[in-house]
Amino acid sequence: MTTHDPAGGPAGFAGQHITVAGLGVSGISAARALAGLGARVTVVDGGDGDRQQAAARELESAGITVRLGDGATLPEGTDLVVTSPGWKPDSPLFAAAAAAGVDVVGDVEIAWRLRTVTGAQPAAWLAVTGTNGKTTTVRMLASILEAEGLHTTAVGNIGTPIIDVVLGQGKDGARPYDVLAVELSSYQLHWAPSLRAHSAAVLNLAPDHLDWHGSMAAYAADKGRIYEGNTVACVYNVADRATEDLVREADVEEGCRAIGFTLGAPAPSQLGVVEGLLVDRAFVADRHQQAQELAEVADIAPGSGTPAPHNIANALAAAALARAYGVGPVAVRDGLRAFHPEAHRIQHIADLAGVTYIDDSKATNTHAAEASLAAYAHIVWIAGGLAKGATFDELVQKSAARLRGVVLIGADRALIREALARHAPDVPVVDLDRTDTGAMSEAVREATRLAEPGDTVLLAPACASMDMFVNYNKRGEAFADAVGELTARDH
Ligand code: ADP
Repeated sequence: MTTHDPAGGPAGFAGQHITVAGLGVSGISAARALAGLGARVTVVDGGDGDRQQAAARELESAGITVRLGDGATLPEGTDLVVTSPGWKPDSPLFAAAAAAGVDVVGDVEIAWRLRTVTGAQPAAWLAVTGTNGKTTTVRMLASILEAEGLHTTAVGNIGTPIIDVVLGQGKDGARPYDVLAVELSSYQLHWAPSLRAHSAAVLNLAPDHLDWHGSMAAYAADKGRIYEGNTVACVYNVADRATEDLVREADVEEGCRAIGFTLGAPAPSQLGVVEGLLVDRAFVADRHQQAQELAEVADIAPGSGTPAPHNIANALAAAALARAYGVGPVAVRDGLRAFHPEAHRIQHIADLAGVTYIDDSKATNTHAAEASLAAYAHIVWIAGGLAKGATFDELVQKSAARLRGVVLIGADRALIREALARHAPDVPVVDLDRTDTGAMSEAVREATRLAEPGDTVLLAPACASMDMFVNYNKRGEAFADAVGELTARDH
């Protein structure tokens, strides 16, 4: 297999003129790292606000050129463009780069090319992508690897920028990472042509970010890149055919295996669930005769209630990657026990007058919302926000029987209201026509009015939050605050 490396390896960055697109977290990290390696770096950003100006001053003091207010023109003499994940592939800067014969790559590609630069043994990469569940899965994976005594960290879309982690490998006497649990978005995969993970998982594939990728086929193709060149295992979701198709299409190393995960009983070469146990029929001596018990379902984040089905799937995917790396069964169990879910992902907020309040603000698309709606029997659903081009008919059809009532918020709530009228005409709907800071309080009060004892009030908006909130965290916090404000009168 050939490796595409137009910059000529890490040493090749020295003296190169590199243009970094975007002055965000990953752009700043890339600019500093590349300047530190001797590259001549220019950062461009279309914005010119206070935040950009402050960041620009800092970078300029490190000898980096920053050009604000013009993100479209390619600086003269650019050898390589390093883009931030949010920039769309059809951005004019990239058209200019293509016209000039200049490659465009992302921060993950740079990190991958730099993995040997410190001279320490490079860490293996266990990579995870999918429409939903990435962060949860890499954190479960890191927890399992730690339980095995390995030195690891979760990186990618989360935590320390990946370039910084790679450049810190073994520096100043620090113990080098053995292995990294790497979360990769479809954007990052799009811009990482030479990445070759040890093993990788695609958790699921549903329409999302199609405005960025242009089509479902392009989105799937970018996700599928995660399997390219895998050496030990390509992990796919048995319940999601599209993920298995991506494995089939991938060009992997000789001997690399396709490993499925399923919520049902596992076939050979799969991990699955049998009578409340997570079971491995892939990484055992004889997969046709043997199965290895890994953990109980109840071992998944104990203390957070019964795990939702999608979190069992995430745990199986994490276990598959860990087992591919050679981790023993006890560490899988201990790692899952030690794992704590992050906030705003099916987070239990309160039980009041027999009603349970759950914050799944991170359900920012219909696929995620479908998973959380499937986890409860009787739901008052708080939904709405920015739809990002999504449609809601399928979600409403699948969930209608569970809905006690619905409270709609946000810019695109009419789309959900219309789907409810078509497929769940008898479900009461409260449509809140306000976007001020008090809107969530009213939504929670209305939801409480609709709820009966034993019901779940579920914030799973199926939409992005930016029409009303800074981000999904703030939306979840507003929900928790609103639940905290409920008085006895509301019940
Ligand atoms: P990501 O990093 O891919 O955005 P997270 O782990 O942060 O994923 O979870 C995001 C949301 O997606 C959660 O709040 C939950 O509603 C939903 N979710 C998590 N795992 C899955 C899964 N395997 N399938 C479907 N939905 C999921």
